[in-house]
Amino acid sequence: MNITTEHRTCAKCSKQYKHTFLDIKGQPVSIEGEQPQEMEICEPCWTQSCEEEEEKARMEKYKSRWIEKVPKKYRQTDINHPEYPKKTFHKLAMDWARSSLTPKYDGKTFFGLQGASALCKTRILSQMAKLFISRGYTIQWINSVQFEWCCAHEFDDEHGFDAKNHLRQCLSRDLLVIDDIGALKFTPSVERKLYGILEDRSAKGNTLLWSSNENFDEMAGQSKLTEKQKERLFSRLDGYSNWFSMDEEKN
Ligand SMILES: [Zn+2]
Repeated sequence: MNITTEHRTCAKCSKQYKHTFLDIKGQPVSIEGEQPQEMEICEPCWTQSCEEEEEKARMEKYKSRWIEKVPKKYRQTDINHPEYPKKTFHKLAMDWARSSLTPKYDGKTFFGLQGASALCKTRILSQMAKLFISRGYTIQWINSVQFEWCCAHEFDDEHGFDAKNHLRQCLSRDLLVIDDIGALKFTPSVERKLYGILEDRSAKGNTLLWSSNENFDEMAGQSKLTEKQKERLFSRLDGYSNWFSMDEEKN
């Protein structure tokens, strides 16, 4: 019996799909008898696996940045883990990251995730960072404790060089990730540094990703800043960022 199509089951997603036999020029062709078994996957799965391969190949080139800068815990993120919010916040974040990589993008260049701990905020940022790194971005990854340390030691003899170097990278790298920004002790020196970084990166259109357990009111509340300092710092962070609260979604 001659056939031009047959129904197959995708080996990857188990969905049924219709396979059309094509000749070498891509024209449907009539086939006789038993066909040799190929790896049978549907077109969406095929496209996806091609994209994954490309992503992997791109990443190979910049792997050292990923390993050097992103903490191991987050590098090992399994986006298929049942508690990882793959379909909601991961998707939202990755869509934002992809769109910000397009030449036409003219939106805000900061992205933030706010919400209680254990909502995978930092893991999501790590996946965004991975995408940016695979596109050749240089990266600085810093958390609130490290940032405070840099501000405190910038001018001392022993650690000054390292502290300055880290802070310089917060300005110069294509991508800056500040993990747990809300946990910063907002002293005047931290405020000055952070404000400078926000202004500089925003003016240059450089990307900044941040996570925070605290919302802006809480950050301001636990700071040791004057009203004016609070206002200029937190209104900048708010205004320059596309940020999302993960708490609201959960409630
Ligand atoms: Zn499939």
